[in-house]
Amino acid sequence: MKTRTKSLVQEAHQVERAVQLIKMGARIQLLSSTTQLPYERLVRIYKEVMGKSPSKGQLPFSTDWFLSWQENAHSSLFLNVHEYLNKTAAMEEVDTFIKAYRLYLEHVQLLEVDPVLSVTRAWRLVQFVDNGMLTMTACSDCGGHFVTYPHEIAKHYVCGLCNPPARAGHGGGNALRREKKALAVAAMA
Ligand SMILES: [Zn+2]
Repeated sequence: MKTRTKSLVQEAHQVERAVQLIKMGARIQLLSSTTQLPYERLVRIYKEVMGKSPSKGQLPFSTDWFLSWQENAHSSLFLNVHEYLNKTAAMEEVDTFIKAYRLYLEHVQLLEVDPVLSVTRAWRLVQFVDNGMLTMTACSDCGGHFVTYPHEIAKHYVCGLCNPPARAGHGGGNALRREKKALAVAAMA
């Protein structure tokens, strides 16, 4: 059983966070690990915001997803923003996360690229980094920081943007360069 929240004001904050996360597309597991609200309450809030029941089931994501080419560019962009906020802003973890995800969405919107990283995957990414299952490594070519496995050898590491797969060459060139610029900006922040 979850500990009761101490005050109405605190509880109001929790509800507000839950609503923000639901609007960003968060799944119920994410909500129950980021707020202290009881599960039944979260389901009710979810239904009210989305007009439907939350989908059930486990979070299916493995660390591999974050290493695919396009997914890695998006994950790295988000994580750069998240790490920056983590270092500079004195906020609660969940608020840092919400802000970082919002900034990620703003970045991709500016780039006119569809967001690839869902809010739930972004949350998993932060967990994987906290658990030491993933980390960030600087590219030996462009210097940008990218999501990698912890055992990546930094001296030899070249990111997916500097060394894109052949399939990325067709049509995606401009979006790719823009993405790279955004990543470089995020990495400098
Ligand atoms: Zn690079």
